[in-house]
Amino acid sequence: MSYIETASGKWEVVIGLEVHAQVISQSKLFSSASTKFGVAPNENVSFIDAALPGVLPVLNSFCVDQAIKTGLGLNCTINKISYFDRKNYFYADLPQGYQISQFHHPIISGGFVEIEDDEGNIKKVHLERIHIEQDAGKSLHDQSPTKSYIDLNRAGIALMEIVTKPEMTSGAEAAAFLRKLRSILRYLKTCDGNMDEGSMRADVNISLHRPGTPLGTRAEVKNVNSMKFIETAVNFEISRQLEILENGGSVEQETRLFDSSRGITRSMRSKEDAQDYRYFPEPDLPPLILEDERIEAIRATLPELPDAKSRRLQETYGLPRYDADLISAEAEVAAYYEKALACCSKADGDAAKLLANWLLGDLFALLNKYGKSIDESLISPENLSGLIQLIQQDVISGKIAKDVLVIMWDEQKSPQKVVEEQGLQQITDPAVIENALRDVLIENSSKVAEYKSGKDKLFGFFVGQAMKKTHGKANPQLLNDILSKLLSE
Ligand code: ADP
Ligand code: MG
Repeated sequence: MSYIETASGKWEVVIGLEVHAQVISQSKLFSSASTKFGVAPNENVSFIDAALPGVLPVLNSFCVDQAIKTGLGLNCTINKISYFDRKNYFYADLPQGYQISQFHHPIISGGFVEIEDDEGNIKKVHLERIHIEQDAGKSLHDQSPTKSYIDLNRAGIALMEIVTKPEMTSGAEAAAFLRKLRSILRYLKTCDGNMDEGSMRADVNISLHRPGTPLGTRAEVKNVNSMKFIETAVNFEISRQLEILENGGSVEQETRLFDSSRGITRSMRSKEDAQDYRYFPEPDLPPLILEDERIEAIRATLPELPDAKSRRLQETYGLPRYDADLISAEAEVAAYYEKALACCSKADGDAAKLLANWLLGDLFALLNKYGKSIDESLISPENLSGLIQLIQQDVISGKIAKDVLVIMWDEQKSPQKVVEEQGLQQITDPAVIENALRDVLIENSSKVAEYKSGKDKLFGFFVGQAMKKTHGKANPQLLNDILSKLLSE
């Protein structure tokens, strides 16, 4: 548990998140309009989305399946009966005048997500519920000096609202939760987690209290839409509330907006209570009843999820948790890694660790540099595996391998071909290495004398000179052994 210590005593930070995740589906929650992103305004609008009088919603059963899959992937209880409710409020981009949501009886309850807490231990963040609801449209205020425009493309798109218990205690934990949640949803293919396009956004609830006393009053920061901002928003809120509380004031329950350009939150409105929305059962939709067979059929399609994958990589290959977690965070990265590992003639712990280093280090650096995803890598898993094996078989040193990797990327050639064309094979002939070393020692006879009178550090200097003479190709181990022998002659 991490506390904030001040002269007046300890404060504990309490954070709960409400995450809106857009369901991956071709059509909207209650209409057949497309969900395609980036089309002309109001292109994806059916009569239902525009709320014409007399239209009736029809529940998209694929979206329900997606929610069930999400619930199963997050260790939740799937409720076999749930209901839709109307959440009433007026807004220009909400033509119905209400949002169809689930309030009293959501489709999913409970569940948890495992994160690494501030002390580096595994911590379960429990979920309160997940419900499905429709998204609203979008108001555009920057298109005209005198008018506001409305785009209803988003209106009616299916969202899952994932609500956590107030169990996180720092901005870092909140960010870790969001990262893990995003990773799981992407594995499940139920939400693309694209925060730039608004497919995933979080409302962050933050309060402070004295340990052992009831929870404090929370402020809610709306629509935080980047991993980077969540920590900034939380930290700003902590210091704002701390100052109020330390001066004997009380935090107001309110909704605040995060201003990403200034890294601050500002008050938007005092918080509505549930009764302000006049929730009541949606009269146009029957109860949502789920059969066991349907739930079990979906359970059977669940892929291996990131936590299980990471544990398997740690247990099977002895990979450190840090490496295994990074590899498992994206299904595509893990698939690449396992494919490469399968190509190693000896897929043991050594190969696994070496491969992890090269994937997470040098290959990720190349992908970043060229803005490519792992699926767009110009180096295939087979070829990365080939490179690892050349290192393991002492054909090339790790240092030369770095250059080989870049040429593999630039020229899209196999590592064997690059090594052959450029003549990069290690020199493993002891006679050749000994000759190079003898030349170095003769050229630097005064340094040899210094070495022999106790200046041990010069060993590295001789190694460097001999490497230079062999264009970095001498086998480092042999070079060291022969040098020791020559110097003790
Ligand atoms: P709403 O914000 O929709 O009115 P809830 O009461 O369901 O609804 O709470 C929403 C979120 O606020 C949840 O994620 C919950 O964990 C979090 N939360 C509740 N109380 C606190 C608190 N005192 N401090 C921090 N977060 C809180
Ligand atoms: Mg809320």
